[in-house]
Amino acid sequence: MAAQTNARQVPWDALIIDQRIVGRYWEKVYRRGPAACWYWLASISDTGHGKLRCGSRSDGTRRVVNAHQLGWAIHHGTGDLAGRVVRHTCDESSCQNPDHWLLGERLENVADFLSRRVLTGHPLADERGPHGRAVAIREAIKAALAEEADVEAAIGAAIAAGNSSKAVQEGLW
Ligand SMILES: [Zn+2]
Repeated sequence: MAAQTNARQVPWDALIIDQRIVGRYWEKVYRRGPAACWYWLASISDTGHGKLRCGSRSDGTRRVVNAHQLGWAIHHGTGDLAGRVVRHTCDESSCQNPDHWLLGERLENVADFLSRRVLTGHPLADERGPHGRAVAIREAIKAALAEEADVEAAIGAAIAAGNSSKAVQEGLW
C-alpha cells in the first residue's frame, strides 16, 4: 500500500529522480555566465516566480511547483528543504542560477521585500511588479532568440523599461 502523503506537501524526492522532469526544467532556463541571472522562460506566477507542472497523476505526484524550489532540490537534494523557502540573493524572482539562492525563512523574504522595494533601480522596485518584470524579461529573451538578435541587449532593455527614472543604485550584494 502506498504511503499517505499530505496533499499540500510536494514530493520533491519523487520529482527529482525523474530525468524527464529534470530535463524539462533545464529546457526552460536561459543559462548565461556564472554570475548572471538565469531567467525562467516558461510560466510565471503572480509573484514573479517560475512555475512548472510535473509529476504523474497515476502515482499522485502531479503538482505545479516553484521552479527555483525544484532547481534547489535538483542541485542540493531535498534534505534541508522542508518548511523553508529558497531565497534569491539577486532578488530576481524568476532567476534559476543556483549561485543566487539561499535557504531561509519566509519572514526573511518578507523583510527583504519591504526594505529593498524602495531602492531605485532595484528589481523589487520595478514599476511593473515582480510578475510584470519577469514576463517582460522572458518575452524579450524569447523574441531575441527567435530573431537571432542580441539577447543580452534585449535583457538590458527589458530591465531598464521598469525603471522610468533611469536612476541606478548598485552594490547591495
Ligand atoms: Zn539571479
